[in-house]
Amino acid sequence: VVRWHGIASQRKRLSWVQLAGHKGSFKAGEEGTILKKYAENEKLCFEHLRGDRLERFVPAYRGTVERDGELFLQMSDLLTNFNGPNVMDCKMGVRTYLEEELERAREKPKLRKDLYNKMLEVDGQAPTAGEHKQQAVTKLRYMQWRETISSTSTLGFRIEGIKKSDGTCRTDFKKTHSREEVAQVFKDFVSGNGKIISSYIRRLEDIKQTLKASEFFMKHEVIGSSMLFIHDHTERAEVWLIDFGKTTALPDGQTLDHNIPWNEGNREDGYLWGLDNLLHTLSSLPAL
Ligand code: ATP
Ligand code: MG
Ligand code: MG
Repeated sequence: VVRWHGIASQRKRLSWVQLAGHKGSFKAGEEGTILKKYAENEKLCFEHLRGDRLERFVPAYRGTVERDGELFLQMSDLLTNFNGPNVMDCKMGVRTYLEEELERAREKPKLRKDLYNKMLEVDGQAPTAGEHKQQAVTKLRYMQWRETISSTSTLGFRIEGIKKSDGTCRTDFKKTHSREEVAQVFKDFVSGNGKIISSYIRRLEDIKQTLKASEFFMKHEVIGSSMLFIHDHTERAEVWLIDFGKTTALPDGQTLDHNIPWNEGNREDGYLWGLDNLLHTLSSLPAL
């Protein structure tokens, strides 16, 4: 997790918060913007989002720019209008890999020591006796296991990271699994403020209705995309859709439901199902 201090602006010093992704993939842009390392997929999504109903919930896209010989996507910095923002990244959907990644992993059943070690780090009991003996697991096994320890496969979303305005930062949510655990994390995130939770719920309802009417959403498999929750001490609270690096257009004429179970081949992502679970979880928070 990286914090950039001193992205100078005329009136105030901004500190930028990055809760996921690689350290080197972001740069400060011109005032009020950030630069994200170019990816064809994500650029296409921003282009397809232009004029779509969903556009008002995604960072404003300003095209590509080159910096030091590298290409970037320029977009609005969602934190600009906040005063000491608290930020949470929630990754949506019942899986965070593409079907083609699954196929590739299956074709190459190479045993990986590094992934075995990553598994051990999270849970010493996770590897089977055979895997302990080999001291290695396949990528396929690792990918599938990873989705079951978080809430991705059971709730259709998972918490990736949180940065609070008091400076505390957490990204250790790999094993945050149950609805109760997730609810507790949200409660801490808003420091028990029910008004903020209500604002988040209203915003999520608005997003849900908009998703259901969005042509972009209907025609894309949305994988690894996040909802970014942001609030500050003035009780301003917003939710934005970010990260379209793995969001892929479907073949012409094909659409997704986003609410029915994923079976390999149907490309369903469980996005709306996850959003409903998220809404239920927030609504179930005892009066704060
Ligand atoms: P990964 O695929 O591992 O999730 P990534 O490299 O695709 O990472 P993003 O998920 O797009 O990167 O962004 C990483 C983090 O940067 C987010 O969790 C969020 O904290 C911050 N971030 C991204 N886009 C914006 C934005 N437009 N405004 C403010 N913060 C942003
Ligand atoms: Mg992301
Ligand atoms: Mg990404």
